[in-house]
Amino acid sequence: MARVYNFSAGPSILPESVLRKAAGEMLDYQGSGQSVMEMSHRSKEYETIINGCEALLRQVMAVPDNYKVLFLQGGASSQFAMVPLNLLNGSGKADFVITGQWAKKAFQEASRYGECKAVASSADKTFSYIPKLNKADFTPDADYFHICMNNTIYGTVFHELPDTGDVPLVADLSSCILSAPIDISKFGLVYAGAQKNMGPAGLTVVIVREDLLGKARESTPTMFNYVTHADNGSMYNTPPTYAIYICKLVLEWIKNDIGGLAEMEKINRKKAQILYDFLDSSKLFKGTVVKEDRSLMNIPFITGDEEMDKKFVAQAKEAGFVNLKGHRSVGGMRASIYNAMPTEGVEKLVELMSKFEAQNK
Ligand code: PMP
Repeated sequence: MARVYNFSAGPSILPESVLRKAAGEMLDYQGSGQSVMEMSHRSKEYETIINGCEALLRQVMAVPDNYKVLFLQGGASSQFAMVPLNLLNGSGKADFVITGQWAKKAFQEASRYGECKAVASSADKTFSYIPKLNKADFTPDADYFHICMNNTIYGTVFHELPDTGDVPLVADLSSCILSAPIDISKFGLVYAGAQKNMGPAGLTVVIVREDLLGKARESTPTMFNYVTHADNGSMYNTPPTYAIYICKLVLEWIKNDIGGLAEMEKINRKKAQILYDFLDSSKLFKGTVVKEDRSLMNIPFITGDEEMDKKFVAQAKEAGFVNLKGHRSVGGMRASIYNAMPTEGVEKLVELMSKFEAQNK
């Protein structure tokens, strides 16, 4: 069996031990005589899985008790609407920082429901940096302030959170959740599509402070009201059962094999450093993001010559390094090095880039 080094931005690489465990339990989950995929979500066995997943997530992320954890579907994109439907109902105003396409989509969708303001943007330089924020631009009575914490396409991250005072900070954590410890108490709500660091696509996780529940506008569809899911332990309807099971295995891997999020961060920093150090010294390849805003998860780079980029992506693929092509909107290359990418994968990638550079002087 030849597994590739998969640098996909999502769905993306999962820990091999998780895949093996899932494979071992595929036909007969712990003596139940059935796959988790075939199980009633109301069964005793499944109850243990979903409750275990929530307990582990709370433990690994140190989620405070006054926050609800919701396991939903619809992807992070559904949250672009669900957040305003549920929260944009006081002053009807919200602030946004436009750091890329996903942040912009969140802004545009919310703008359908209220008065939304873009307080800063880095569109002028193809989102290659996190814009400086000026508190004087913030809306003091906003219902929430939204950021996309890690910008998957452009490779930037908020290393520092905006100080929004009493205005709840809402963050899209899709591409950085579980990559490092994060203080959930600084947020009113966070959300993430699972298909990068948590598990397979199909699961969307929302962590919301309890006092923000129950504010949804009257016309909100039942399925889009957080209260529906909070009151029913994410079991109002059928949850994405198998994705939650895999997420539980991923959390067990982080807790038991890695040793928690502080350790995870150390590994992620080391991995990213290997690639950034190479990019900073290379005469052929260069990173596209200002140094202080570089992401640990998504690392875009270019040669400055589109044909050369194509040649590199093709050669890399040939050598078993896949999904290195940059997002269709920006071109170049992007290495997504999520939690499950082993350090060895990044070292081998740098070796390959180094060789390519020597051959293309
Ligand atoms: N936000 C971010 C930061 C993302 O990277 C993505 C997808 N890659 C999305 C939102 C959209 O997620 P989904 O496909 O789960 O709707």
